[in-house]
Amino acid sequence: MADRARFGPAGVPPTFRLMAATLADVPKLLREEGLDAFEYQAVRWGAKPQIKRVDAEKLGLIAREKDVLISLHGSYFMNFCGNEEIMKASIQRLIACVTAAEWMKAYIVVFHPGFYGERPRIEMFSNCLEGLKEVANTMEIFGIKNVKIGPETMGKPSQLGSLDEILSLCEEIEQAQPAIDWGHLHARNMGRFKTVDDFRRVIQEIERRLGSEAVKGLHCHFTKVEFTDKGERRHRILGDVKHGPEFEMLAKVIAEFKLRPTIISESPVLDLDALKMRDILQKELSS
Ligand SMILES: [Zn+2]
Repeated sequence: MADRARFGPAGVPPTFRLMAATLADVPKLLREEGLDAFEYQAVRWGAKPQIKRVDAEKLGLIAREKDVLISLHGSYFMNFCGNEEIMKASIQRLIACVTAAEWMKAYIVVFHPGFYGERPRIEMFSNCLEGLKEVANTMEIFGIKNVKIGPETMGKPSQLGSLDEILSLCEEIEQAQPAIDWGHLHARNMGRFKTVDDFRRVIQEIERRLGSEAVKGLHCHFTKVEFTDKGERRHRILGDVKHGPEFEMLAKVIAEFKLRPTIISESPVLDLDALKMRDILQKELSS
């Protein structure tokens, strides 16, 4: 868990790439910018980790040295609502991500639980839960103790990932911790966050169901989002006045509940908006 509110980008910022920075340079560069979290993107991975163990371990060591908290975004190619074959592949893929997360000392693997098909939602939910329990058991067998699996709240009603579903998964699985994507919740519920109280209610619900430790160290994604009646359409920058949600409102609730979340910016201008959010929270904490 983060020892303070931390901010960072989802993936390597484009300016770092222009500087031809290697992965091992990322923690130092983030620090120089004033950020202290980084979500490694393993979003196109298959059945095996697509990073060499030595490179992952090197990233982990340097991140620790520079005091940058690492998380890992798992493969998009998982669906814990799929048929038997898809389920088996999804379990294997999530385990690959968890294994690499352990190498790089990432504290959580965020992932998208799945898409509902034609079958009843309640059935899909219990399939998903069973699949994740298998992942959790395998983690125990492998002795992986320092990594959580983080099912993410999803932006489309066709995806498993309402707040209630994510919290239910976390209630059932000890190794699970929710990944709250505020933009996704906003899009899924057609503009849910209009007031500070709308944010407060989500925090209170997480606290009620998972306890105060879980809510204090919450893992979050934040970006403004454009949506239609089918949910999320595209991510928007923080300065976009036409779209929500507003980070200022969440910052008020973070201060009020004395939370220490990790906030990953998924905005089109990754690190730049992470810095803006950091400044907004700092202002709120010192007011
Ligand atoms: Zn995601």
